[in-house]
Amino acid sequence: MVKSIMIELDILRIKNSPGAEYHLVKEFDMQPIQTELEEVFFNTPVRLDVNVANRGSFIAIEGTFEANIKIACGRCLDLFDLPVREEIKEFYYNTGKMDAKPEEDGEDWIPYRGDSIDVTPEVARTIVASLPMKLLCRDDCQGLCQICGENLNTAKCECHKDEVDIRLVKLKQLLEKDQ
Ligand SMILES: [Zn+2]
Ligand SMILES: [Zn+2]
Repeated sequence: MVKSIMIELDILRIKNSPGAEYHLVKEFDMQPIQTELEEVFFNTPVRLDVNVANRGSFIAIEGTFEANIKIACGRCLDLFDLPVREEIKEFYYNTGKMDAKPEEDGEDWIPYRGDSIDVTPEVARTIVASLPMKLLCRDDCQGLCQICGENLNTAKCECHKDEVDIRLVKLKQLLEKDQ
């Protein structure tokens, strides 16, 4: 069986019936998300819990989703797990209908065609937007040694032995002069 890697929601039953809606709880496998800054891997499928509703001129998809992702620490580059739980609220209009694009401003209306709506891009965008500015495997991550590249969380290196505070050297010289 070929596993789907798109979060496609079936709207065949509701798309021609204004007011019709259904609730869906389902898990979807997702491919890693590649951005300019990082790559997001999925430890678990994305669990979607949404309402899919025909609101007359558009289809509304609202609810939450959660997953456990894996991402590289900004300091030590090790991959670490991060639980994600976010809200999703998107409005889709049918490109097949000339007058379907809603007039109201202030919302991003997303075009769709056919009998299903692929919300994968919106889920991916929401996950990337939810990532904290500082991606740390733990608050006190020691990072990599800037000289030898050793991961200081798991190993010690000899480099910092030679690191000397220049002020201390000056102080030492002064003290020695006094003697
Ligand atoms: Zn780290
Ligand atoms: Zn080192």
